[in-house]
Amino acid sequence: MKHIAKKRIFEVEPYRPGKPIAEVKRELKLSKVIKLASNENPYGPASSVLKAMIQEAGLVNRYPDGGCFYLRQALAKKLSVGGENLIFGNGSDEIIVMAIRAFVSQGDEVIIAKPSFLIYDIAARLEGAVIKAVPLKNFYYDLDGMKREITPKTKIVFIGNPDNPAGTFVNEKNLVDFLKKIRKDILVFIDEAYFEFVNDKSYPDAIRLIKKYKNVIVTRTFSKMYGLAGLRLGYGIADVDVISILNRLREPFNVNSIAQAAAVACLNDKTYYRRIGREVVVERTKLYRELKKMGLGYVETATNFILVDVKNDSTMVANQLLKKGVIVRDMAFWGLRNYLRVSIGTPSENAAFVRTLKTVLS
Ligand SMILES: *Cc1c(COP(=O)(O)O)cnc(C)c1O
Repeated sequence: MKHIAKKRIFEVEPYRPGKPIAEVKRELKLSKVIKLASNENPYGPASSVLKAMIQEAGLVNRYPDGGCFYLRQALAKKLSVGGENLIFGNGSDEIIVMAIRAFVSQGDEVIIAKPSFLIYDIAARLEGAVIKAVPLKNFYYDLDGMKREITPKTKIVFIGNPDNPAGTFVNEKNLVDFLKKIRKDILVFIDEAYFEFVNDKSYPDAIRLIKKYKNVIVTRTFSKMYGLAGLRLGYGIADVDVISILNRLREPFNVNSIAQAAAVACLNDKTYYRRIGREVVVERTKLYRELKKMGLGYVETATNFILVDVKNDSTMVANQLLKKGVIVRDMAFWGLRNYLRVSIGTPSENAAFVRTLKTVLS
């Protein structure tokens, strides 16, 4: 069948996710495995959220509400936007894919940073886009460089904010300057998957910007801080024009009913997630200190993951860690040959990572 499939499918390297814990246990015959490879919440959902999921589980014989009524209402209120400014996706990944499918035709150009979140590149190539990848400058976005890449064919600029794998963000002033200077018929896709982890006054209030800049979409997710990665739920906030375009190609039941119920419960939980946010900050500081003691480098991050310069071949180090039951992300594929991306786990997971890394590097 290969000869009748679209040719460009074979020109795109498929996304390689972090290995699941069960797979590593099975393949390496290990009983204890720690996963610090996909920036997940290591604790899982709050008990109130689990309760809502269990309640909803009994109703899965029915199709979900394709309009996500209760979630839309709760989120619109929380974010002070209209319900019509929201779109929900099977993960925010789905919204990235929908935006590319809606706005990018064969031969159009998409601007991304390098390195950046791989889905932007993969999804755009699958639509036949030409990718303009602008290198980060000292691990920060080079927005001037990205602006210089704009041509009449440019359709979307992706700004991961904070981005993955660098963990850094574009501040409000630089973002607004960029938006002011570029054409209004280029979609600026601001991916805020790690929004909940950022504690910095210079971080943009991007949702407020959608009122003035109708070419902006902001996405967020329940996969990271909220601990619902396995349920797949993300959302986008944009002007009604953009939202209604995306809705035309959204599948009718793209968000499952358990995810909808869980997300509403997340938004109602006042304390659990705040506690996790505080712990990430504490653990991040501890990890910085340990890495410094080991003489390794790292990029200061606004997120729940750290890009670590292990000063050795990262593939070798990642494989050695894996054999000892610690899954991290090798950044060689991103062009960062000595770097690992390590998610911040529980205190005991982080301690195990540090211990194992010391063994591997000695
Ligand atoms: C994890 C991640 C996402 C996607 O998450 P979903 O689970 O699809 O909501 C999007 N962007 C970045 C930068 C991420 O790291």
